Amino acid sequence: MTTRRRFVLTLLPATALAVAARVTSAQAARLAENDPQAIALGYKHDATKVDAKKFPRFAAGQICSNCQLYQGKPSEEWAPCSAFAGKLVNAKGWCSAWVKKAA
Ligand code: SF4
Repeated sequence: MTTRRRFVLTLLPATALAVAARVTSAQAARLAENDPQAIALGYKHDATKVDAKKFPRFAAGQICSNCQLYQGKPSEEWAPCSAFAGKLVNAKGWCSAWVKKAA
């Protein structure tokens, strides 16, 4: 077996495991709407589903991707949020901690 072939055969399983672990952690880290902290802050994956009577601060157009606490790019569907450490929130979501992103 050539050194190159041995190198590729060694590298492939490690790469596959790294990719699988990344996908798994990204899925596992999504904030659930029934998470106690999410419930307390009225978080919804879809801002149009926010109970505006219960959260009168909500205004149409406020979504995670235009919130100061959203830590992803506007193009990312799921990204970290400093209000929910270790979890990913949806770019089109909302919670009562929403703060307008600085221009
Ligand atoms: Fe979305 Fe902002 Fe609430 Fe985080 S703090 S969940 S980014 S609205």
